[in-house]
Amino acid sequence: MTMLTKQETLANKLAELSDSFAKTLPARLSNLADALKVCEVKFPSREDVSALYRLLHTLAGSSGTFGFFALGQVAAGLEERLSVLLDQNQNHGLVDGFAEIALDVHVLLDWALADPKNAPDDVSHNLKLKTGRTNVLERTGKPVQQSGMNDHLLYVVGITPDKNPHLLLQLENFGYSVRFFANIIALTAAIREKLPSMLVVDMGLQFEVDELTALQATLPIKIPTLFLANDSRFQHRLVAANADADGYFVKPLDMVAVNERIESLLRREEKTPYSILVIDDDKYITDFYSVILRSAGMEVNVLHDPSEIFNALAQHRPELLLMDVYMPICSGLTLAKIIRQESRYLDVPIVFLSTESNLGKQLDAIQSGGDDFLTKPMSASYLISSLTNRVERYRGLRELILRDSLTKLYNHSSLVDRTSVEIERAKRHNKPLAFAMIDLDYFKNVNDNYGHLVGDNVIRSLAQLLQKSLRRLDVVGRYGGEEFGVIFPETTGVAAFQVIDKVRQTFAKIKHHSADHRWYFEVTFSAGVVEVDTQHDASTLFDHADKVLYSAKSGGRNRVKRH
Ligand code: GH3
Ligand code: MG
Ligand code: MG
Repeated sequence: MTMLTKQETLANKLAELSDSFAKTLPARLSNLADALKVCEVKFPSREDVSALYRLLHTLAGSSGTFGFFALGQVAAGLEERLSVLLDQNQNHGLVDGFAEIALDVHVLLDWALADPKNAPDDVSHNLKLKTGRTNVLERTGKPVQQSGMNDHLLYVVGITPDKNPHLLLQLENFGYSVRFFANIIALTAAIREKLPSMLVVDMGLQFEVDELTALQATLPIKIPTLFLANDSRFQHRLVAANADADGYFVKPLDMVAVNERIESLLRREEKTPYSILVIDDDKYITDFYSVILRSAGMEVNVLHDPSEIFNALAQHRPELLLMDVYMPICSGLTLAKIIRQESRYLDVPIVFLSTESNLGKQLDAIQSGGDDFLTKPMSASYLISSLTNRVERYRGLRELILRDSLTKLYNHSSLVDRTSVEIERAKRHNKPLAFAMIDLDYFKNVNDNYGHLVGDNVIRSLAQLLQKSLRRLDVVGRYGGEEFGVIFPETTGVAAFQVIDKVRQTFAKIKHHSADHRWYFEVTFSAGVVEVDTQHDASTLFDHADKVLYSAKSGGRNRVKRH
């Protein structure tokens, strides 16, 4: 699906929702009229005025959202005034000031029942309708998916083969399909045939950067691009930045860093969709936000009944909650407090969505455990980017807890946790499960000869290769210093052995370099592979794999042993 048809689909869906919302307007307005009538007695009760407030609140939020801006704004103004009244008269009657508001609700009903799209001139004038409100149908800017996992095609263009013979080989060793082109014309022809996942441009080609930019502009999507340069001169960085480069690396290349950037750029497109839970009692509102967020590739679940919150949290594991402040059973603020009472959900972001423009209410929302407060109506792109930032931060924090900082693999304790979970799962479903323990050979020598930082780079390169070579299902962790553990769900020991042995052969070919790039060297690893049996728990499994690893070491290293 192209960007355009995607936008059109979104526009159509939103228009449909807006139409069906418009059909509910007469009923909404007549409910409002009924609620107003109940309040028009000598001493209106707090409950009755609150009911009126609630209807105005819902009307304010949804009307603006569906394009009835004047109606939304007038209702929001009345909602605000009623809210002040309710706050000021905590315990006694609501006589003072109510009559005036009631009169204005009548005025609203009069024109909205006749023509809800267009307010009378004097109302419009008083509203001083803001110009330049961004349309909810604008571009969402979501990247389009390219090729799938593990079949990444890299196009390298420039002078590389003569000057840097290792580059293509190293990229291939890390599991990418690589094609080389000597100039932009050849590259253009290839791109017309098949889009690569990524471009690597050798800056020797400076004079062709304009052509490259022009080429990119003709493509349906931007292809992530890395620039390789001979120096770090500002002018060259500027050229790269103007060509919208996603990375700039100076030769001699630190291949571990280059590879890390490639992986992170490719992963950006493969991310699992954000999981969002939208909580609002108004079905039109939840439908509306679902359509917008889904159009940006997010996974959206909705909840209309706040009392079901813990079921919804457990079932959907949302990474962000988007909720209304005002709901009939309990307010969003109270719901946030209830959620925060459960330690498991202390850190899941909560974003309130409401018409409250009152600063005090917003502070209450934050104090009750909310993270942000968005005011309805808002543009689709603003909503998407606010939520994206929140979810990204949440993911980042979770990653810090679960992952090792050097390799970004699971750390020791998450590896232990995951192993226990997988062992239980394998036993329950009676499926095979294999585990491999990997340890670099003579690694002390690497540190002694080249320094600890170079040693760290070797550890990172093995981490990258493992991640590249394994299925998504497999779990890789850093067990300790230069030791790694791999869990292979639904895999026999024989099959896991073959996978790890292939990684071993590839790894042995990778050229590592000294800090000054004067020396190149290879490193190998040994591994022990074990298939889980019914006796195993995580700890006995690790012990067992360690023993098999030891036999690989004593057997001469650079080999994989299987029990
Ligand atoms: P072999 O496993 O083949 O028996 O020999 P080895 O030299 O690898 O064995 P040993 O376990 O004695 O040494 C492991 C070395 O790994 C010791 C330690 O300095 C180094 N090491 C552990 N963690 C790190 C790390 O995070 N970074 C670096 N650079 N080195 C580390
Ligand atoms: Mg060791
Ligand atoms: Mg070792």
